[in-house]
Amino acid sequence: MINLETPKKHRALVDQAHQVAMNMLRPISRKYDRAEHAYPKELDMLAAMIDGLSESGASEGAGATGVRRDESKDSGTVRNGSNLASVMSVAEMCWGDTGLLLSMPRQGLGNSAIASVANDEQLERFKGRWAAMAITEPGVGSDSANITTTAVLDGDHYVINGEKIYVTSGDRADSVVVWATLDKSLGRAAIKSFVVEKGTPGMKVERLEHKLGIRASDTAVIIFTDCRVPAENLLGSPEVDVKQGFAGAMATFDNTRPLVAAMAIGCARASLDLTRDLLAEAGVVVDYDRPGQLQSAAAAKFLQLEADWEGAQLLTMQAAWMADNRKPNSLEASMAKAKAGRVGSDITLSCVELCGSVGYSEGELLEKWARDSKILDIFEGTQQIQQLIVARRLLGLTSAQLK
Ligand SMILES: Cc1cc2nc3c(=O)[nH]c(=O)nc-3n(C[C@H](O)[C@H](O)[C@H](O)COP(=O)(O)OP(=O)(O)OC[C@H]3O[C@@H](n4cnc5c(N)ncnc54)[C@H](O)[C@@H]3O)c2cc1C
Repeated sequence: MINLETPKKHRALVDQAHQVAMNMLRPISRKYDRAEHAYPKELDMLAAMIDGLSESGASEGAGATGVRRDESKDSGTVRNGSNLASVMSVAEMCWGDTGLLLSMPRQGLGNSAIASVANDEQLERFKGRWAAMAITEPGVGSDSANITTTAVLDGDHYVINGEKIYVTSGDRADSVVVWATLDKSLGRAAIKSFVVEKGTPGMKVERLEHKLGIRASDTAVIIFTDCRVPAENLLGSPEVDVKQGFAGAMATFDNTRPLVAAMAIGCARASLDLTRDLLAEAGVVVDYDRPGQLQSAAAAKFLQLEADWEGAQLLTMQAAWMADNRKPNSLEASMAKAKAGRVGSDITLSCVELCGSVGYSEGELLEKWARDSKILDIFEGTQQIQQLIVARRLLGLTSAQLK
């Protein structure tokens, strides 16, 4: 039987993440929204605490940690593992602040890429590093198979040349996982990811972007000019397997998309919780046990938003649970990201609408959450791209057949 409750083994972690979000992230949320590009130094202490919890085994992932399908741990029984733990704790942390979650040391999306694609030796070598992820280029966004950054083998190094834009944590992270092609003529199969350590000669952070939301998070333009990277920093196999195509690099998204969906769920939950309180203060009490059409228009609208939120949450939990149980989850990861990204934006903006001028002004965080949530429907694959992936999978069509 399907049990939709938070698994018992993860309840302590979820509670802990909620406490951290409430007591450590919320109080500094507005400060770093205003102080764009200032480093939230309070997060260092928090990161140390999370490291401590991970080392003690008390936590299976309290941030945007990497997730790996470890066949050796397959017990043959249904498990609720680190993927589920990660999405639930990420959602709680984003209930606190999405920009600050994205700024947490050692919890970058590059860490998920390493965890998904690295071999065991690399996993050990890059343990404890904070890794950003650099795919997007000036001429390449959704069409990530067309990247032009090159990596050419020269002795025991790869020489990387190209420009990456919109790299989350690109300035602050210890390293950046860079997508580059070994040979453009071999197509998408030749795209590999490389861990480039911060400070490597030839790697230059050109500038930071000013943004609508998630202002606590740094977003960098990075230029690579004859940047020499040790050959052993190519993640996974250097072989170009034309049959496997893009599958290796894309495997990263099966793990990161549910995490981004979880961010949207957390941010939207924050908006719903505050809006329900503000509506109650204004005399509109939402009754979850009565049909919407028998209540006020505001309450009915709120119930519809709750239903959207629940659908997104269940899809996200499903995608993570499938990864924990080693079931292919590309379809479900995209479904979760599409639904949560879309309803996340809709919910946060609708909450501003329901609360009127109180929602729109800086006295509350509702307007900030409406700004923060939009990016979650854009990065790691936009709404339209997720829908395209879902359609291709359901119809059994290739990317060449359905564009
Ligand atoms: C704050 C921020 C942080 C980011 N962080 C990172 C990061 O850490 N690493 C990284 O590599 N990138 C990052 N990105 C980049 C992000 O992943 C891209 O912006 C995203 O993939 C979309 O690419 P694009 O902006 O080039 O838009 P485009 O691909 O040009 O798309 C423009 C519009 O057209 C739509 N569209 C495109 N193709 C199709 C199609 N075939 N069918 C229908 N509609 C289509 C899109 O959905 C979108 O609405 C970040 C971006 C931002 C703003």
